[in-house]
Amino acid sequence: MKTDILNRLKYSLGKDAENASTYDWRIAVSLVLRDQMVETWFQSTKETYEASPKRVYYLSMEFLIGRLIEDMISNLRMEDTVKAAIAELGQDYNTIVHDEPDAALGNGGLGRLAACFMDSLATLGIPAFGYGIRYEHGLFEQSFAQGQQVEKPETWLTQRHAWEFERPEARYRIGFGGHVEHHEGKAHWHPGEVVMATAHDTPVVGWKGEWGNTLRLWSAEPAKEFDLESFNRGDYLAAGRSEALARTISRVLYPDDTTESGKELRLKQEYFFTAASLMDLLRRYLKDHDDIRALPDYVAIQLNDTHPAIAGPELVRILVDEHAIPMDEAIPLARKCLAYTNHTLLPEALERWSEHLMGRILPRHLEIIRAIEHAHQTEFPDSPRILEHGDVRMGELAFIMTHKVNGVSALHTELVKETVFADLHRIHPTRIINQTNGITPRRWLYGCNPSLRHLITDTIGEDWVADLEQLTALKSKRDDAAFIEAFTASKRENKVNLSNWISETMGVTLDPDAMFDVQIKRIHEYKRQLMNLLETVALWNDMRDNPNADWTPRVKIFGGKAAPGYFVAKDIIRLINDVAHVINTDPVTDDKLKIVYPPNYNVTMAERLIPAADLSEQISTAGKEASGTGNMKFALNGALTIGTLDGANVEIRDHVGSENFFLFGLTAQEVMERRTHHGYSRAAIEASPRLQRVLGQIAEGRFAPHDPSRYHGLVGMLYDHDYFLVTCDFDSYFDTQRRADTAYRNPANWAAMALVNTASMGWFSSDRTIKGYARDIWGAKSVTQAKLEKSA
Ligand SMILES: *Cc1c(COP(=O)(O)O)cnc(C)c1O
Repeated sequence: MKTDILNRLKYSLGKDAENASTYDWRIAVSLVLRDQMVETWFQSTKETYEASPKRVYYLSMEFLIGRLIEDMISNLRMEDTVKAAIAELGQDYNTIVHDEPDAALGNGGLGRLAACFMDSLATLGIPAFGYGIRYEHGLFEQSFAQGQQVEKPETWLTQRHAWEFERPEARYRIGFGGHVEHHEGKAHWHPGEVVMATAHDTPVVGWKGEWGNTLRLWSAEPAKEFDLESFNRGDYLAAGRSEALARTISRVLYPDDTTESGKELRLKQEYFFTAASLMDLLRRYLKDHDDIRALPDYVAIQLNDTHPAIAGPELVRILVDEHAIPMDEAIPLARKCLAYTNHTLLPEALERWSEHLMGRILPRHLEIIRAIEHAHQTEFPDSPRILEHGDVRMGELAFIMTHKVNGVSALHTELVKETVFADLHRIHPTRIINQTNGITPRRWLYGCNPSLRHLITDTIGEDWVADLEQLTALKSKRDDAAFIEAFTASKRENKVNLSNWISETMGVTLDPDAMFDVQIKRIHEYKRQLMNLLETVALWNDMRDNPNADWTPRVKIFGGKAAPGYFVAKDIIRLINDVAHVINTDPVTDDKLKIVYPPNYNVTMAERLIPAADLSEQISTAGKEASGTGNMKFALNGALTIGTLDGANVEIRDHVGSENFFLFGLTAQEVMERRTHHGYSRAAIEASPRLQRVLGQIAEGRFAPHDPSRYHGLVGMLYDHDYFLVTCDFDSYFDTQRRADTAYRNPANWAAMALVNTASMGWFSSDRTIKGYARDIWGAKSVTQAKLEKSA
């Protein structure tokens, strides 16, 4: 290992050990690890060609990967070797690991799900490609100036990306615009603009390095060589313009979390990566198959939300225009290959494009969408329409062009059936199914929580890492005092580590024995960070009114970014920071209450915070959070949840037991009903003296003395248009927080409840989720499993 690292330093970076920087060491170590993966990767490719199984293609606009170095080290089981080699080379392991930028090619849960799925597909030995965009700039970097969010471009690619292989041979021409000619019953699309899609491959190796798949990300490049003619004429700008335009397509990740952005560039990005991915998978299929009609036997394409929904019309276009398959046969053939995951019911997040824009950017696709619409209307005259009020509705398109539509939690799936796709569900009653989300235990326990990992492995062995339900065996330890003590010590160690980091980076001192209460996720009104903050102020008031009472000390930790154009979310961020400033400098509550909001929440920060959490805030307005996966990460790492009956919280509570979960708030049904009451929020505020007092303080400028009207808008909104029912759930949330306080004062009992959470979370492994997709949607099999069965 030492020699390998030194060789890489010398031959790949041109450095010797004396002159190498942390960056050089990190790249050298990464390249050595990549070399190790390549063997597995080649072997998997070879076995896939021999077995000729069905391949899975996971199309996602986002992959929120985070750092890879420790993932690789643990999946390859090389922790001891790598640590020893680095130490013997006189370097510091942690410094090297923390030098890696966080690959933030996603906004939040949707992108992180895609990353967890890649890990599980590789661990299960299912042949798969992840397809996405190699954004030059991932999700913006967040900092705070006077409490307000400031966005800076993210720059992960200014450094060498050690994990990837560029594939100059895998290049495809992607057309936009132009016109369509029809003669002799055939359509000919003549695009007005062409860019090239170039593949960049990152090997994804599963647990124990037994199988490797590929994450193939596309970057956009100019199709035309550099315009030397313009350059020679002295027109340097013109010479660079077409090149810059082409590259724009993979330049930035859209930072809109759930709101649809009606941007032409966004539609181009969607078509760009979808078209490149389909060409790539068809080229692979046609290399060893002649019959395009057998495509569904070998290819399963999963659409992660509607972003790649143009895959339906694109596949039909290829079948009809390039393989001369009649339209009425092409549509069902494409459908058999495609499936769609719905992630949201929020109406503003359901993508739609104007027909005008679609016709301008993708004229042939608009014709095909009309043909799809026509075919579906002919068969089902009462079907909802894809084309409505001059828009192409991507949700309806995705539903009609796929053979399975899945929701991401049991509750969400039922709501999908009752709301967004109610009419389509009546026509196609078996198309919608549920696949509750999951998380990879490799990153979200084994990697991020070494103290707990060691305790578990010492107790039940190591097989839980690839078979998470084995954690159930820990339930019997809930009455074992010695084990509970060790479990508590593991949590405390994580809390001390986090406290040290907070102290170093933010200058705030935390008491590691206080309850660490954590809410980290995108800032969104429906996630109700505001309710958490109002409760914090109410608690502070009570503590000041009665400072000598027996309070449970708390640390409130927030983390998350707001979409740059989402002004309410940005006001909430500012208010959290303003309130933190006042509370953290109050001598009366100094030893009882603190608020910290470390900037730039990302995967790495999640890995740091989650193992140190006592309480997990999952407090969305019921019916609004499709699943959540943050909720699963916390419970797996031994935090108790305070939450509503929303998304996967419902199933988490079923698994861990209602006595180990702090439930509060209106149900999804009650939320819908409450909204029909006139003046519901004003009534709720008037019924709650505690809430009234807090809102009064915020409105009169208690937390912004130099700008007292700063939050008038926010407070006014709570009185008059509290769409997310912060006011209606406030009292029951406050009371439930006090129940948590009481429970925390009995540490052994708290730890036992936390242990039952960890022990009950096995079902939430993304391995279980992927097995569900493979069985119910893809009809795909594990090659490693088949090999085992054959040899048995
Ligand atoms: C898991 C995760 C999310 C999703 O969190 P939710 O609480 O489910 O919204 C978002 N961002 C990051 C960095 C994550 O790791």
